[in-house]
Amino acid sequence: MIETTLDIQAIRKDFPILQREVNGQPLVYLDNAATSQTPQQVIDTIVDYYQGYNANIHRGVHTLSQEATDAYEVARQKIQKHFNIVHSHEVIFTSGTTQSINLVATGFTSFLKEGDEILVSAMEHHSNIVPWQMLCERTGAVLKVIPMNLEGELVMEEYQSLLSERTKLVFCNHVSNALGTINPIEEIIEAAHKVGAAVLIDGAQAAAHIKADLQALDVDFYTVSAHKVCGPTGVGMLYGKEEWLKKLPPYQGGGEMIAEVTFEKTTYADLPHKFEAGTPNICGGIAFGAALDYMNSIGFDAIAQYEDELMQYATEQLLAIDGLKIYGTAAHKTSVISFNIEGVHPYDIGTIVDKLGIAVRTGHHCAQPIMDFYQIPGTVRASFSFYNTKEEVDKLVEGVVRARNMLL
Ligand SMILES: *Cc1c(COP(=O)(O)O)cnc(C)c1O
Repeated sequence: MIETTLDIQAIRKDFPILQREVNGQPLVYLDNAATSQTPQQVIDTIVDYYQGYNANIHRGVHTLSQEATDAYEVARQKIQKHFNIVHSHEVIFTSGTTQSINLVATGFTSFLKEGDEILVSAMEHHSNIVPWQMLCERTGAVLKVIPMNLEGELVMEEYQSLLSERTKLVFCNHVSNALGTINPIEEIIEAAHKVGAAVLIDGAQAAAHIKADLQALDVDFYTVSAHKVCGPTGVGMLYGKEEWLKKLPPYQGGGEMIAEVTFEKTTYADLPHKFEAGTPNICGGIAFGAALDYMNSIGFDAIAQYEDELMQYATEQLLAIDGLKIYGTAAHKTSVISFNIEGVHPYDIGTIVDKLGIAVRTGHHCAQPIMDFYQIPGTVRASFSFYNTKEEVDKLVEGVVRARNMLL
């Protein structure tokens, strides 16, 4: 039995896509770590915007422009409140986590010099590795890796010994998208601050499961993509402490981000507009706010509790399959299960279960260093959301058994 206070069948009705069939079978969507599905409430928000008040923001005196501006700024305040952020101008709308990280990495160019060090965890998404490598190339700073163990947990003693007065920045994901590990970010942030280093936490994978309190964490930067929390693609946020955002140079030049422009000199707009050049994804930002409203109406405690039960159940059922190995067995993890069956390529499992209507991800999950660590080409990854059911887990297990029998 899976215990929950949630009415999962009622919740499923909010997601039109869950009614569809794939290859003649009801869709079983278990690729939530790549992107979440979108409830009707968020779809309605998008439709209302384009049907009712589509206009460019911040510069129009006309009614539609004011309505769009108000809705966009209300969404910013919803994000502020959700993550317990001091000022709404510390919320920068971006196109998502990748852009948020690039904004900070580019901005740090002028703050670093040769010999400075940047620490990144061994379980980063590519979007959290490449921008730092580029930053190191520009500045001569050195990238160092916080190692992990076979369970998929960071080795915190090693982290402590890597920290020094040369450390200027520490980057780590809150939750690993490939393994599900929940990293001890409180400890990571506190230790980094002791040596005067800034910390950016990639919250892209965590945000669907954990409501992070950014004031309590005292983190310098935190990133989120709306499409992983039931919102649309192409929009997300960068949280930055006011003092950092004031120091960082603008990321892109253009409209919206200036106070005054002459050919001799341009002065930049105040926060948050300094980092929001050009017409943003207005509808996406508004829908991001609606997505957080939706998830809060369900409740993050209930979501975490239910997803944990689903994950425990799926773990037990999958481990009963001959030759199946799970990668990422951290004591604290979210509902992501990465696995392989001995002698079978993950891609073949993914293809066979797709014929049964089951969507899982196969491959390196944008985290090749993790696959190198385990010396595997990739894994099959099933990631569960609050709208998944025990019956869907059973279908996955049946599908994997069937694939195994066909392939071995
Ligand atoms: C999804 C994800 C990203 C990338 O997010 P985008 O929306 O593609 O920018 C980065 N880090 C982690 C941990 C993720 O799960």
